[in-house]
Amino acid sequence: MSTRPFNFSAGPAALPEEVLQQAAAEMLDWQGSGMSVMEMSHRGAEFISIAEAAEADLRELLQVPPEFHILFMQGGGLAENAIVPMNLAGRSGKVDVVVTGSWSKKSAAEARRYADVQLAADSAPYLSLPDPAGWQLRADADYVHLCSNETIDGVEFQQLPELRQLGSRAPLVVDLSSHVLSRPVDWSRIGLAFGGAQKNIGPAGLTLVFVREDLLNQAQAICPTAFNYKTVAEARSMYNTPPTYGIYIAGLVFQWLKRFGYAGKTGLAAIEQRNIDKASLLYAALDQSKLFENRVAAPARSRMNVPFYLRGAYDTPQLNKAFLDGAREHRLLQLKGHKSVGGMRASIYNAMPLEGVQALVAYLKDFEASHG
Ligand code: PMP
Repeated sequence: MSTRPFNFSAGPAALPEEVLQQAAAEMLDWQGSGMSVMEMSHRGAEFISIAEAAEADLRELLQVPPEFHILFMQGGGLAENAIVPMNLAGRSGKVDVVVTGSWSKKSAAEARRYADVQLAADSAPYLSLPDPAGWQLRADADYVHLCSNETIDGVEFQQLPELRQLGSRAPLVVDLSSHVLSRPVDWSRIGLAFGGAQKNIGPAGLTLVFVREDLLNQAQAICPTAFNYKTVAEARSMYNTPPTYGIYIAGLVFQWLKRFGYAGKTGLAAIEQRNIDKASLLYAALDQSKLFENRVAAPARSRMNVPFYLRGAYDTPQLNKAFLDGAREHRLLQLKGHKSVGGMRASIYNAMPLEGVQALVAYLKDFEASHG
């Protein structure tokens, strides 16, 4: 059993300890090559084998269909907010964005620099999800964007909309940065998905893009070559030097996930079940509390990011500080809420064990007993 504290960071976030140990053991000499992975040419046989295995394992875990390319890029989620419209908004130049929280709001603002953006919906104050039946979708939009898990607001789509049923023929673009690999993905509803690695996958600096083959021919002329999905896909993510160490760690995380077992299940099904159990435990504790609350409507609650606040008159700077100081003493790290919304947030990504959530729930109860 680990002696490390439980780390609730929203990202960069905790990684499985087994993965960190393996990386440490292989740091100076990767599998007898005499080199650290950081010191290898990205075009050499050693690294090519690492990258190919990572891609194959990711494809298997998420059941990514053959018509999708998997790209390992740089730039993170925010850069994709520009890279996506530069690649996809080259026909009508119209983009419809579903705003369900802070990150999709940022995506809409950035896309305006490259495209004619319409908000299909805006569910401010982001405590529930907007009913797809009411979305304003343009027939000739180049794509529709949504963020399937809003990391700051703690709002998650439990299922993706079927755009065709809503009368739209546009491909759906999904920012899945903060819940990728926590649950299966319905690729039949998606044209492109992207995510930064630094939550469920590995170190910051690696960005995953899943793009359907037929979307590779609608880039705007201004799109930088190194960020052109067609160029990157044709070069198997080796047009420029990819974030090699990040790909290696991601590969170790994918192997960890493939062998992960829980509740009689393995792989993605096992991690999804553990994520459900962790989230249920934490939301139940918050809902029963007289001191704390989560404000998101139950069907929209995120399994990954759980913002919570002291209730009403308890919500003072002193009590918030006392809670966070006490949490650190209990070895529960990085529970402070995002600066834009305040309060607390527990990010309980794949690497967070059930014991971590149990420890947090015990601390919530102790704190309530002494301060409630
Ligand atoms: N989208 C989502 C859903 C995120 O959670 C984040 C980061 N927390 C981003 C985009 C931005 O990622 P980055 O900082 O890597 O650009």
